[in-house]
Amino acid sequence: MSELILQVEDLTVSFDGFKAVDSLNFYVEKDELRCVIGPNGAGKTTLLDMICGKTKPTGGTIKFKHRDLAEMIEYQITRMGVGRKFQNPSVYEDLSVFENLEISYPRKRGVLGSLFFRREDEMFRKIDEVAEQIFLGDVLRHKAGQLSHGQKQWLEIGMLLMQDPELLLLDEPVAGMSAKEREQTAVLLNRISKGRSIVVIEHDMAFVRMIAHKVTVLHQGKLLAEGSMDEVQSDERVKDVYLGH
Ligand code: ADP
Ligand code: MG
Repeated sequence: MSELILQVEDLTVSFDGFKAVDSLNFYVEKDELRCVIGPNGAGKTTLLDMICGKTKPTGGTIKFKHRDLAEMIEYQITRMGVGRKFQNPSVYEDLSVFENLEISYPRKRGVLGSLFFRREDEMFRKIDEVAEQIFLGDVLRHKAGQLSHGQKQWLEIGMLLMQDPELLLLDEPVAGMSAKEREQTAVLLNRISKGRSIVVIEHDMAFVRMIAHKVTVLHQGKLLAEGSMDEVQSDERVKDVYLGH
């Protein structure tokens, strides 16, 4: 059996009595690329909000690398290796692609002056590596504001990669992308899932088919189905609430 990186058990959050996530169990393995689908309002974004510490659960547990996240706040969870991308790209439009990646490189305190240059070399190497991965190697000096919507999404993924997260949470990363950009994003996610776990929330079924190994379907805050894309797509309950629409 593979090792679990994320264990979510009996997770519940209630907003004024309304359960956006309701007694959910959700497990992700090391190096797994998982898709989470479900109709609008299913609780997908709220699930990610709780994993990254933005929203505190009403009940249940979330363990990352076997450590309970309950007592941790957002930046501590980030520092443990959880990277979160929100639905809308938030890059610094007035900074270049290079600078956006540069500011995302983790700062280490207490570094001696004599080590500074070596560390800078390390950072340049990392920026080049990430820029190539996200298809922006040729536009490092362009202002982020000049990029297409899709390229901004990639840049934001790149900013997360600068920190080498062990678990990457992506909320609808291909929303608003062209067909070509979606295909490239599938290549990108398959590429960056080597050696890390990724949870991607997505609506676009063609895209999910390109990347998914295992698919989790949420509905009204609960787990509706889980399995391969084929299993999930032929599940009558899934067809009823989601795919049939
Ligand atoms: P999804 O991402 O699957 O579309 P969300 O997780 O954004 O769904 O939302 C799930 C449900 O929880 C929705 O009905 C939404 O209106 C509700 N919800 C989400 N966040 C809050 C909040 N902070 N306060 C009240 N209701 C919320
Ligand atoms: Mg959402």
